[in-house]
Amino acid sequence: MSGKIIDGKAIALEVRKQWKQRVIELKDRGILPGLAVIIVGSNPASQVYVRNKIKACHEVGIHSELIELPEDVSEPQLLSTIENLNRNTQINGILVQLPLPDTIDVNKVLETISVEKDVDGFHLYNLGALMAGSTIFPPCTPYGVQCLLEHSSIPIEGQNAVIVGRSNIVGKPMALMLLQKNATVSICTSKTRDLKQFTSLADILVVATGKPNLITADMVKPGAAVIDVGINRLDDGRLVGDVDFEGVKEVAGYITPVPGGVGPMTITMLVANTVIAAEKANSSV
Ligand code: NDP
Repeated sequence: MSGKIIDGKAIALEVRKQWKQRVIELKDRGILPGLAVIIVGSNPASQVYVRNKIKACHEVGIHSELIELPEDVSEPQLLSTIENLNRNTQINGILVQLPLPDTIDVNKVLETISVEKDVDGFHLYNLGALMAGSTIFPPCTPYGVQCLLEHSSIPIEGQNAVIVGRSNIVGKPMALMLLQKNATVSICTSKTRDLKQFTSLADILVVATGKPNLITADMVKPGAAVIDVGINRLDDGRLVGDVDFEGVKEVAGYITPVPGGVGPMTITMLVANTVIAAEKANSSV
């Protein structure tokens, strides 16, 4: 058996069409949605991500501003940049590309972004609201995974979902979202004893660890949906996920490739959150 490959790129293009239409509707009302992207330093991976985000905004008609700050920018300078954007009525969404230099307190930065403009969904309010099942802006990557599952008609309710990884930006929100959709959820971490014991029970397996080839075919239940969030650059320059794609695709029912799986959906959900932010900001206009 060979699993169906979930084409994240194609699904992202399809989903973006809907959001492009919502942008047209806003423009008809004289409203131009705006996203500000702040990048600190010159991390090459971050620069690629930021470029792709700006490009996606351009494609759907969202105004975007790229703010490039030097590696040695001070924390007060960065916070003041965010505060100015919080006050800027042309900007509906603010994204600070992570990681930030060690000299900067990332939590302080994320808490400074206005909740109404937190389109990455990393503010404590949005993460807390997710816990209560009522977030304004779901974090883009897990939101993108949920959208991929739904778009591929993969059932969630009543399924065993196993999430490998517990970061605040992927693993934990992913678990909460699938729980909200009535999956039975387990979260595995680097401290989990016998990872395979858990992964082999998963109907839906979401892997977000940053460890290439962590998940091999023998760890996957036949027919499972395997969603590989990982992005790893190997020494030979290849980009791979956390899942042994070639081996696992022979066992899984569905599998996402890397690249071309979750990545394009993360960006699509950023577009979605920015459009929603603009709609909310202008709900009485
Ligand atoms: P973090 O480093 O913040 O978290 C990694 C998690 O994986 C931790 O919870 C860690 O456990 C767990 N982990 C590490 N090794 C193992 C192991 N051997 N077995 C089980 N669990 C393990 O990473 P992120 O969540 O930020 O990102 C994860 C991956 O996803 C990265 O490759 C990143 O580049 C990618 N990514 C992709 C995105 C996309 O759009 N496709 C968006 C965001 C991230 P512990 O907590 O115990 O240390």
